[in-house]
Amino acid sequence: MSQARLLIDLDGTTVDMMKKWLNLYNKDYNDSLTVNDIKDWDTHKWVKKECGKKIYHYLSRPGFFRDLEPYPHAIDVLRRLSKDFDVVIVTASPRIGHSDKTLWVRNNLPFIPRRNIIFAHRKDLVRGDLLFDDSPDNLDAFPGITVALRHEYNKHINSHLVDSWLEFEDFVLTLFTKKQKSLDKLEKI
Ligand SMILES: [Mg+2]
Repeated sequence: MSQARLLIDLDGTTVDMMKKWLNLYNKDYNDSLTVNDIKDWDTHKWVKKECGKKIYHYLSRPGFFRDLEPYPHAIDVLRRLSKDFDVVIVTASPRIGHSDKTLWVRNNLPFIPRRNIIFAHRKDLVRGDLLFDDSPDNLDAFPGITVALRHEYNKHINSHLVDSWLEFEDFVLTLFTKKQKSLDKLEKI
């Protein structure tokens, strides 16, 4: 199999950022929001008025990104895909989150080298064959193949949607095996 490059997002794709984020908010504002209550990318619209855009302040707390829970099978799938693909983590982050995120990857995805972590808000400028992300803007702008982990806030986008990491793995293997087979055929002609 050729070394296609997979660009992998962290928050909302590899790790369940919403869970910790909403837990902190719910405690402070006596609310009971879940990720399914958030219907679009603008999280501040779904929290209590007295919180509003202050919801984003949690993301600048030191340590916020250090202990996020991975989604089921994310780590195993990334470990397997790393054997046949160039797996690159591409994550947007407040500057204060850079070291937390780097540590998270080192602790949870030790098979991904440090040089394969890219901090970028403009993910469309990073070269790769496929982007796995959850942000409608990132997915819309990316020139290659796009796959999204389905959430209430992104389920209407125009990308291939998956409900789990195992489904993502199947999609990637089917897609790139087919591509390789047609390349092999062309070589034989
Ligand atoms: Mg994300």
